[in-house]
Amino acid sequence: MSKSAYFGEIELSKDTVLALKEMGFEEPSEIQKQTIPIVMQGFDVIGQAQTGTGKTAAFGIPIVEKTTKDRVPQSLVLTPTRELAIQVAEEISKISKYRGLRVVPIYGGQSIERQIKALKNGAQVIIGTPGRLIDHIKRGTLFLSKISILVLDEADEMLDMGFIEDIETIMKSIKNENIQTLLFSATMPDPIMALTKKYMKNPKVVSISKEQLTVPLTDQFYCEAKDKLEALCRILETEDMDKTIIFCRTKKGVDELVASLNTRGYSAEGLHGDLTQAQRDKVMKSFRERNLEVLVATDVAARGLDISDVSHVINFDIPQDPESYVHRIGRTGRAGKSGIAITFITPREFRQLRLIEKVIRTTIKRKEVPSISDLLEKQKDELKNLISKIIRQENISHYLSIVEEMTEEFEPEKIAAAAIRLYQEGEPEEKLEVDKEKFKKTGAKEGMTRLFINIGKEKNISKDDIVNYICEEGDMKKKDIKNIRILDKFTFLEVPEEASERIIAVLHKSVIKGHKIHAEPARPIRKNENF
Ligand code: ADP
Ligand code: MG
Repeated sequence: MSKSAYFGEIELSKDTVLALKEMGFEEPSEIQKQTIPIVMQGFDVIGQAQTGTGKTAAFGIPIVEKTTKDRVPQSLVLTPTRELAIQVAEEISKISKYRGLRVVPIYGGQSIERQIKALKNGAQVIIGTPGRLIDHIKRGTLFLSKISILVLDEADEMLDMGFIEDIETIMKSIKNENIQTLLFSATMPDPIMALTKKYMKNPKVVSISKEQLTVPLTDQFYCEAKDKLEALCRILETEDMDKTIIFCRTKKGVDELVASLNTRGYSAEGLHGDLTQAQRDKVMKSFRERNLEVLVATDVAARGLDISDVSHVINFDIPQDPESYVHRIGRTGRAGKSGIAITFITPREFRQLRLIEKVIRTTIKRKEVPSISDLLEKQKDELKNLISKIIRQENISHYLSIVEEMTEEFEPEKIAAAAIRLYQEGEPEEKLEVDKEKFKKTGAKEGMTRLFINIGKEKNISKDDIVNYICEEGDMKKKDIKNIRILDKFTFLEVPEEASERIIAVLHKSVIKGHKIHAEPARPIRKNENF
């Protein structure tokens, strides 16, 4: 094979280099730099590097380079899951775009007949999960005699998933003396080490150390939140997001969060170990095709998955350890694109956050939960964009005539504002116009408005609960809120008149300590009023 092109400093065929360029690979990653040349030379290689460092191409490129025109299985890659088998097959197919290799994923759940057909049809590179591969070996539908490269991909995960015996069975079935064995893994637990000792011939070990592992393209934040669900929704409303993955600690946590998000109108689905393969596939497909706003997952379910264009990773629950933090945020900011990771913590979890920072040697910046006014600001921007787009692209002459007719009576600004309101809030309810006077005659002294709120002592509401809420959400200072009186069922308080409408808007239908609030200007105090 004539080699006359370069991927970084690695000499490869023109075909492969061109395909890599089209995939957006400009230069090899660290693990690729160090392993590809020695794999090309024929050594057995152990490659250890964290998730997201490009291990697939580290073996995929040499496989493509070494595969001959022979239409028989020449390379066999073992992966822990069906998704990974498909992903790896896709990546190798892309690398071999100008070679036209037959790359076939083999996994449980797909019709075995179809796979037999694909295998008979001249498959050259096979990627599969151990169980199904063994099925084919036993049935005699997968011939191993010409396999010259065997790869164990994500070996530590195959171990976690209980595949170690299956792997050995497969390794034993390959009788080829000259087999070249490659093993890639994020970690090297003992049983994996034992496997390498037993089956690999003087393997070269390439280990990419932790310092090279952090994910510098990910902007990392933490968010201290008492009500994590509320904080999450506000972040979903205010951030510009592409694909977003939310991590929870447990399966139950995933299910609960998915239900809460769905109730609030978000399209969310969960990914965890209790799902059937078909369910997992369905979820992943909708997520890839952007039919889901968010994917909610446990660590285990999302490990090893390579999904492109993930803009945000949100740790709804802080990860147990720094390792899994790196795994999680490795889902974003991949392949040269930047991403954002936001970790929610409760005050008690500060220590855990500091520990993670120490291990990854990065400061995780503080981010405030977006306030209601941030939400409104964001909404404003979106409306402005929409309106500009309509003005630029659409025919609005019919509507223009309505405006023209109305300008005799109203100013154009007012007409526009009313039209936006109509779009945003729908038709007005039949009600009396808001009586400005209502805000003046509430029994408070000049310049202040007394407000009535429909919760009180009965619901365990304290002064602080209410004052803090108004200050945080309504951008007020504590000293501006006066004369708070908490009664059994109601609360009264006074706020500056000019802020009163806004504060009512902030309080109205919001939730304090789990209780829906209703707020309005109080009625004037009657003489002899007795509480
Ligand atoms: P790992 O197996 O180590 O977890 P992957 O092989 O799944 O990592 O690669 C992670 C992502 O990085 C994939 O989207 C892959 O296409 C991309 N990638 C791999 N190598 C390169 C490279 N040299 N340049 C740019 N992107 C790369
Ligand atoms: Mg991988």
